[in-house]
Amino acid sequence: MAVEISKKKCIGCGLCVQTCPFDALTLENGVAQVDPDKCTNCGACVEVCPTEALALDEPQKKMSKEEKEQVKGMTETAREMSEELTKYKGVWVFIEQLEGEVAPVSWELLGAGRKLTDKLDTYLAGILLGDGVEHIAREVFNYGADKVYLVESPVLQHYRTQPYAEAIVNLSKKYMPEIILMGATTMGRDLSSAVATKLGTGLTADCTELDIEEESSYLLQSRPAFGGNIMATIVCRHRRPQMATVRPRVMDMPVYQEGRQGEIIREELGLSEEDVAVKVIDFIKEKGKAVYLDKAEIIVAGGRGLGSKENFKMLEELANILGGTIGASRAAVEAGWIGAEHQVGQTGITVRPKVYFAIGISGAIQHLVGMQTSDVIVAVNNDPEAPIFNVATFGIQGDLFKVVPAMIKEFRKQLG
Ligand SMILES: Cc1cc2nc3c(=O)[nH]c(=O)nc-3n(C[C@H](O)[C@H](O)[C@H](O)COP(=O)(O)OP(=O)(O)OC[C@H]3O[C@@H](n4cnc5c(N)ncnc54)[C@H](O)[C@@H]3O)c2cc1C
Repeated sequence: MAVEISKKKCIGCGLCVQTCPFDALTLENGVAQVDPDKCTNCGACVEVCPTEALALDEPQKKMSKEEKEQVKGMTETAREMSEELTKYKGVWVFIEQLEGEVAPVSWELLGAGRKLTDKLDTYLAGILLGDGVEHIAREVFNYGADKVYLVESPVLQHYRTQPYAEAIVNLSKKYMPEIILMGATTMGRDLSSAVATKLGTGLTADCTELDIEEESSYLLQSRPAFGGNIMATIVCRHRRPQMATVRPRVMDMPVYQEGRQGEIIREELGLSEEDVAVKVIDFIKEKGKAVYLDKAEIIVAGGRGLGSKENFKMLEELANILGGTIGASRAAVEAGWIGAEHQVGQTGITVRPKVYFAIGISGAIQHLVGMQTSDVIVAVNNDPEAPIFNVATFGIQGDLFKVVPAMIKEFRKQLG
């Protein structure tokens, strides 16, 4: 007992999916599909289908008066919800700044946001919060935004969850964006979850791909799941805005277009210092953080194949000659051969250098998700079947204890 669907007639509008009170319908490749275990033959989808693609495979089951009222109520709610969703327009990117310095992930997200707006035929905006930050708006336009929503107040001088979240929630309620993107940074992770909670919408953290589903216009939010063994694509069907965070260096930097113009929309915060529970007393800058893996242009990374802490010295020598930074697999970190701040991958840092050397690293999916978008990957491994070779630009099959010294010798000769 389940509704029948004519593939020929279905135009993939998704109205039945929105309407079904039992979540029995989905869109697959632009055609409605029914889950017979969930379908109750209530007929709600048949009523809303604009092309008569749906029909009951047996007479509608006899419902009591209360059941009929219940289904009618659910159908109306679903219809109202789906109408409500169409009112949301625009892709917004949170422009993360600390003392006036913008986190590069914000520009990367403007690049990703532009691709989404092109598919949705809508506008791209930056959300700029702070005190005395209006000058940053110029840069936001140069990186591709059409609008900037600007909220300035002394209360926003330093990042605090409550006033920042409230500013975005108020902007969102007033201007109704379809999508909000933030960097998966310490600030972005904190802020996005607070905003999503207050707006009662969904949030997908640490996305590695974003796209728009053609038929439904839903934001397709892809990220590794189940320990990185599969990629999951998540959609937020019933709530707006659709919210996602993306790690730094995952998306391409957009082309910088000097002199691009845009519109600044200024809003008041509507909060005073007394309204904020958390006070910033002082900022103590981290001293001498040596490893900036996410900014490194050359990374020489080692894995379990190195065999010992001592052998990492060989990689340091290579990195020094090339002006590179040391990276590592989790296996090397867990063995205690190198600090956790060097770890590349799903639970480490996502990197995108010009050259990534993977030495004695097998290429487990959890490592690959953190480095596979590097411009050039050089892999050294004695196992020809090692998965790292699937992503390598140059694969050297051999014993690293012979290959790395030969590299050091040759690079020293070439680079002096
Ligand atoms: C939830 C979760 C999160 C994780 N997050 C991360 C993460 O962020 N980053 C990460 O790296 N891992 C992560 N892992 C672990 C990951 O699954 C792998 O276990 C790990 O990446 C393996 O590290 P490795 O490649 O150094 O070691 P191995 O898989 O043991 O590979 C060692 C490689 O060295 C090669 N080798 C050995 N001797 C030599 C030699 N003499 N010459 C040349 N090659 C040699 C071998 O052929 C082998 O391919 C995570 C796992 C889980 C479950």
